[in-house]
Amino acid sequence: MLRRAVAVELEATKELNKLLYSVETMYLNIVREVVAYAVEHNVTNPTQLHRLFYSKYRQEYPSLNSQLVIQAIRQSSEIAKSFIEKKRRGLVNKPYPEVKAVSIRFVETTWNYEQFTSSTAPVRITISLPGGRREVWLRLHKRFWQYWWRVLTGEAELAGTLIVKRRLNKWYAVFIFEVKPREAKPQSVVSFDINENTVAVGRVDLPSTVDRVAGWNRRYLMPQLYSIRTDFGKLARRYEAIRNAITEGLKPLYALPNGKYVNIMNTREFRKRVKHLRERGRKIGRVRHVANELTKTPSIIITEDLGENPQESMINGIGRDELRHRLKQTPFKSIEKAVEDKALESGSKLFHVSAYRNSRVCPIHFARLEETDDWHTLQCPLGHLVDRDYASVMNMFWKLTPEAWAKGVWWNLKSEEMNWKAREGDSNPIIPHPIVQYLHATLKEFTASFEQSPAVLARGNPMNPARGANEGWARKPPTPHKAGRRPAPNYTQG
Ligand SMILES: [Zn+2]
Repeated sequence: MLRRAVAVELEATKELNKLLYSVETMYLNIVREVVAYAVEHNVTNPTQLHRLFYSKYRQEYPSLNSQLVIQAIRQSSEIAKSFIEKKRRGLVNKPYPEVKAVSIRFVETTWNYEQFTSSTAPVRITISLPGGRREVWLRLHKRFWQYWWRVLTGEAELAGTLIVKRRLNKWYAVFIFEVKPREAKPQSVVSFDINENTVAVGRVDLPSTVDRVAGWNRRYLMPQLYSIRTDFGKLARRYEAIRNAITEGLKPLYALPNGKYVNIMNTREFRKRVKHLRERGRKIGRVRHVANELTKTPSIIITEDLGENPQESMINGIGRDELRHRLKQTPFKSIEKAVEDKALESGSKLFHVSAYRNSRVCPIHFARLEETDDWHTLQCPLGHLVDRDYASVMNMFWKLTPEAWAKGVWWNLKSEEMNWKAREGDSNPIIPHPIVQYLHATLKEFTASFEQSPAVLARGNPMNPARGANEGWARKPPTPHKAGRRPAPNYTQG
């Protein structure tokens, strides 16, 4: 089950605003006090805390709904638990957690859940506040209706607990939808590869029935290769320039008598100015765009196994600070995570293949590719050029087929060492065998047709006009997979 939270702004009148603030204050007080106690005495069991504090706060805050008191104590237990756990792992230095904000939880009985869910188009909620139930209008938006439609069609359920929280001076109701992962027939096989400024994509559309192996129409047997612009590297560079300008501008304000400066990046003024840049927000928007694009239709999605910390493995051997910084800014993991998450929702399945030699081998001839003057283009010893990104996504396709084992180029294994027949049935639980066969046939057909149009693997238009920028080396190098691989390419070239 997937959970999706959708925040909807409340139509808050002056009176309601006052009530919500008063509830928030009481709720926050309870959480702060109980958390402090729980951490100090190492009592985090919610039942125990309830026994200790419930009647105290019922007396102290008679206007607060009893369920809200219960929820506040329960929330304290969770906060205390996670704080103690973090402390145990040495991640915090403070003696107590600082509770700055709370999400007020209204359980099923403290708002009009029943009535809300039985409506086809709910537009308001009723919540228990001091003085009784209040009706609150919602500022509903498209995203809410999208999930609501799923509730109506039985694809999702609305959770019973409603969260009310404040952000700056606005109040929001957060609805939790439990979405059933879709079971869908894959319509395509997609492989993708994340680079600094683009995400390279290979797509093979599956015919409606892949079982009829013999009847395939050849014109459909062509993988599409394209890339999605993300410009994470450029974004990072631009923001870095802006940050530097802010630092320069603030320097006169923070000059010390000895001519040196305090660390401007730690100042309040700097943080205030940087906050308005919305760098994170822009990045998240682009990450989502990539995830949506890749999961548009239910697909089998193939990507490289990035390992725990792809940035670190890429940074090894890269000297210049600026580039290290940019690489850190490329959200490899978050793209992968967003795709994984979206994949479940759209009925797609994600499959990881080893990154070994993905962009080192010609996907047509399986020969080792040589570097050219242009980082994006590689030379096949059989006399044609290959775009590095296309090689990478094509080779990921190959890795799903028996060819991967037979050719042995991606695994330092001889084909006879690999008992392919024995593996056929169980080697690949995610991808049905007919699809593997179809993919294999497509790749074979592509390889055969290659002699007529050899330019197909070398991009007509450079993906990135600034070819001299050398941003190419800000990519993931092949990770060591088996002994005997050749030394890592020289990532420090200027
Ligand atoms: Zn070749």
